[in-house]
Amino acid sequence: MTATLPNRPLNVAVLGASGAVGQELLLLLEERQFPVGELKLLASARSAGQPQTWNGRHLVVEEVTAEAFQGVDLVLASAGGSVSRLWREAITSAGALMVDNSSAFRMEPDVPLVVPEVNPQAAHAHQGVIANPNCTTILLTLALAPLAAKRALRRVLVSTYQSASGAGARAMDELKDLSRVVLDGGVPNSEVLPYSLAFNLFLHNSPLQDNSYCEEEMKMVNETRKIMDLPDLRFSATCVRVPVLRAHSEAVNIEFEQPFPVDEARQLLAAAPGVELIEDQAVNRFPMPTDVTGRDPVAIGRIRQDISDPNALELWLCGDQIRKGAALNAVQIAELLIQN
Ligand code: NAP
Repeated sequence: MTATLPNRPLNVAVLGASGAVGQELLLLLEERQFPVGELKLLASARSAGQPQTWNGRHLVVEEVTAEAFQGVDLVLASAGGSVSRLWREAITSAGALMVDNSSAFRMEPDVPLVVPEVNPQAAHAHQGVIANPNCTTILLTLALAPLAAKRALRRVLVSTYQSASGAGARAMDELKDLSRVVLDGGVPNSEVLPYSLAFNLFLHNSPLQDNSYCEEEMKMVNETRKIMDLPDLRFSATCVRVPVLRAHSEAVNIEFEQPFPVDEARQLLAAAPGVELIEDQAVNRFPMPTDVTGRDPVAIGRIRQDISDPNALELWLCGDQIRKGAALNAVQIAELLIQN
C-alpha cells in the first residue's frame, strides 16, 4: 500500500452504503466529481439487493464479503465499529485504503485522525487506515485551529446540542414518527434511541466511563488532543441530544494563554477554510442548524469576550454532522491523498 492514491479513476467501495452517512458519501462523490472508476455499494444482508442510482449508473447494494474488496482502491467505511474491525484486514490486505467513519481505530497511534483543514499532513503517515474523527470533534476543531495558530490554548469547555441524525437514519425517522404521536396526544415510545426525543432532550446516551463522562464526551477530549497535537490540552465537554432532525450545535468557551481581541478572532474565523460566519448582532441572528443542513461549512457566530475571564472567548457553532462531521470529511481525506 502506497501512501497516496493513484491519479486515475479509482475503484471505490462504500461500506454502509444504505445508511445515513453512506447515502451522503454517495451524494458527495457525485457532487465533487470524485474520480470514481467502479463503485461498489456494500451493506448487510438486510439491504442487499436494494437498487440505487448513482451518477446515471444503476447499481445494486451487495452484502459485504472479503472478496468484495479485491481490486478496490478506496473503501469509505460507515457501518459501525464492529463492522470496521471485522473487515479491516480484508480491506488492507486487498491493498485498499480504508477511510473509516467509526470510532474503532481513532486512538490507535499508527492510525492518523484527520481533519483536512486542520492536520492534512497527518494523512500521509497512514498504514492503510485513516480514521475520520467524531462528528462533534470535527466541527469544533474547525473553530479552534485558526485561533490556536495565533495564541496558545489553555482550556476548552464545550456543551453540544446533537441532532437525531447523529444516531443514524432510523433515529431521524423515529423523531419524525414520535413527534406526530405527541402532536396527536399519544405517548411516544422510542425503540431506536433510549428515550423519545420528541419535544424532549437527554444527555448523550453513550456508555458512562468511570469518571462519569460519557463515551461521546471523552471522544471529544481525546480526539481533539490528537488532531491538534495538544496531548495536555485541558478540555471538558457535556454532550446532549436535542430534537433537531439534522445538524449539531455547540456552545464553546475557549481560554487562551493571553487575551484574544474579539475582532481579531472574528477576522481569523471569517477567513478560515470550511468556516462561514453568521453574525448579525443588530438583529440577533446567529447560526442555526437549518442554516447548515445539507451544506458544507461550519457556521460560527456570537463570538464574544467571556465576561468571567479576560483570556477567554465564547462562541457558538452549527455544522451538518452527516456532511462535514462524517461524509464530507472522509471524501476530503481521500482527495488529499490523490497524487498530483
Ligand atoms: P446508519 O444510518 O444506521 O447506517 C448503518 C449502515 O451500516 C447501513 O448501511 C447498514 O446496512 C450498515 N451495516 C450495519 N451492520 C452491518 C453489517 N453487519 N455488515 C455490513 N453493513 C452493516 O448509521 P450512520 O449514521 O450512517 O453511521 C454509520 C457509521 O458512521 C457509524 O460508525 C457512526 O458512528 C459513524 N458516524 C455517523 C455520523 C452521523 O452523523 N450519523 C457521524 C459521524 C460518524 P443495512 O442497511 O444492511 O443495515
